[in-house]
Amino acid sequence: MADTQAIDSVLNESRVFAPPEDFSRRAHIRSMQDYQRLWDEAEKDPQKYWGDRAREELFWKEPFQTVLEWKPPHARWFIEGRTNLAYNCLDRHLPKLQDKPAILFEGEPGDRRSVTYGELSRQVNQLANGLKSLGVKKGDRVGIYLPMVPEAAVAMLACARVGAVHSVVFGGFSSEALQERMKDMGAKVLLTADGGWRKGAVVPLMKNVEAALPNAPSIEKVVVLTRTGDGKLPEGPKYMAWDTLVRGQPDTCEPEWVESEHPLFILYTSGSTGKPKGVLHTTAGYALNASLTTRWVFDLREDDVYWCTADVGWVTGHTYVVYGPLMNGVTTVLYEGAPTQPGPDRFWDIIERYKATILYTAPTAIRAFMRLGDGPVKQHDLSSLRLLGSVGEPINPEAWMWYRDVIGGGRCPVVDTWWQTETGSIMISPLPGATPTKPGSATFPLPGIHAEILDRDGNRVPKGQGGLLFVTKPWPSMLRTVYGDPERYVSTYFSELPGMYFTGDGARTDADGYIWLMGRVDDVVNVAGHRLGTAEVESALVAHAKVSEAAVVGRPDDLKGTALVAFVTLKQGNAPSDALKKELATHVGKEIGAIARPDEIRFAEGLPKTRSGKIMRRLLRDVAAGKKSTQDTTTLEDLNVLAALGQNDE
Ligand code: ATP
Ligand code: MG
Repeated sequence: MADTQAIDSVLNESRVFAPPEDFSRRAHIRSMQDYQRLWDEAEKDPQKYWGDRAREELFWKEPFQTVLEWKPPHARWFIEGRTNLAYNCLDRHLPKLQDKPAILFEGEPGDRRSVTYGELSRQVNQLANGLKSLGVKKGDRVGIYLPMVPEAAVAMLACARVGAVHSVVFGGFSSEALQERMKDMGAKVLLTADGGWRKGAVVPLMKNVEAALPNAPSIEKVVVLTRTGDGKLPEGPKYMAWDTLVRGQPDTCEPEWVESEHPLFILYTSGSTGKPKGVLHTTAGYALNASLTTRWVFDLREDDVYWCTADVGWVTGHTYVVYGPLMNGVTTVLYEGAPTQPGPDRFWDIIERYKATILYTAPTAIRAFMRLGDGPVKQHDLSSLRLLGSVGEPINPEAWMWYRDVIGGGRCPVVDTWWQTETGSIMISPLPGATPTKPGSATFPLPGIHAEILDRDGNRVPKGQGGLLFVTKPWPSMLRTVYGDPERYVSTYFSELPGMYFTGDGARTDADGYIWLMGRVDDVVNVAGHRLGTAEVESALVAHAKVSEAAVVGRPDDLKGTALVAFVTLKQGNAPSDALKKELATHVGKEIGAIARPDEIRFAEGLPKTRSGKIMRRLLRDVAAGKKSTQDTTTLEDLNVLAALGQNDE
């Protein structure tokens, strides 16, 4: 089957959890019949479905006539319409939500601020006017390199207000990564801070900016927020204090009414599979899906205190920290620092104090908390929670169960949401009031999303078998191009099958039609004629009581073609040993079969991850093969982890 790229599935997970009845009763989408009705409506007449949704969901300064123009692989949505995303997030909620907290901010050192919709709106307008005073015009690119403080949201919204294209660079990135991105996008202004707090220390943003600036000549002005220091600016005419820029600016600002297809932001992908791509999103289609998916997937209610833990430097921070929640008028929690600062219970402490109702985080965080045991969780009252979400990687069934039982007290539905920077918004996910969930499955595509599992020839693969995950029809929040590299847009996403978006991920459906993500196609391991997705073997390892996290890669092997190498992190209190290696290999063999039994197990203190918490298996492949890596590591979280793995060679 290798020629059609089918992937063999070995995982068997049969637990099913129906949505709690009282949850369904109040939900936006209450049953699978409701879901099916929406799905059918979208399938029958996509133009009408998306057109109706767009009219309901967004404020239009000028209406659109054409819902979609699709000249594969290029889509234009809601063509003649004009809108403004900042207006949709703020103005239209005023005066009703004037005094409602939009953002509940907590800094790592413990400082707190509540920013109401009214205040947020005024701050955005002042900064928007400030940007205009610097000569920023519609279409200009503005870089944002800030810690997780309310000003990060203010910066994004101010750009949207004046029609500038923002590009947020994660505050933890080095000066090289910053400089590369500023150059690639040709940013005119950079909005930054002197520093931010992380793990009890200052992240030296300003130092990185100073180092990057000489090589980013397009930048005319650097606007500096004071967060950690004394407000002293670096020497030079390019630097200006944030306070100086906004002081005295009017707190009203007429929005720039942009065309639907006006670029909203450029965001670089996580770099799990290679050099990051500058994904470009435009205004109306992105806004529509951001708003709709946030309300449906998180089943938002007016009184929710919603917490998505992602950094605004990632797409999850764009869609589910800033735009989606604000368009829906809910209160969102913003936390600056590390999850375990000053203690292992910081997250749970935040949930208890703010009475958060929804938590949306990543498997990497969940596994890290599992590793610490239930103790820190049990110190806090988490009864305010009513819904849990996961995003970023396949969530191993055991981590899903722990999330549900220990964090959710067994009463909160868990939504495992599959999507990408490129998709702009959630594509495959349970709807918590409707979908019976299975641990580790992202379940079904949302209405209007044609996620299909195909082989290389475009045939649907039979149920139970793995294949390539495609989105076969355009959707409003799809990326429009790779900024500055239109060819890469076509070659990366539309060259497997013409006119169909290739996600790069492998997936399968089970007998009930549930979708299971199997990991990235690049990471598939070919063992003795069987093509295995990494997710299933890793999940089998994580199901072992002593294992916290696992990454599986292939290593060239004379005999088998490819040998399976597993890198394993143990839960606290467990020591590595040869006996444990044998025990784990046997465990995998028993759980999912002999072909998936690792040939080699290596214990590791940590695994190489992107800064957004994804395991970088491409780097582990080199380690497993004993090769020195020459790959792009600009988004790697911690070079030391990689170095330690290299020395581990037996
Ligand atoms: P790059 O494209 O540069 O390699 P990346 O793919 O890690 O980086 P993102 O867009 O941040 O960048 O991540 C999207 C990917 O994350 C998906 O393609 C998928 O592999 C993985 N992913 C996200 N959510 C889930 C999920 N719920 N289940 C399984 N995998 C997920
Ligand atoms: Mg990707």
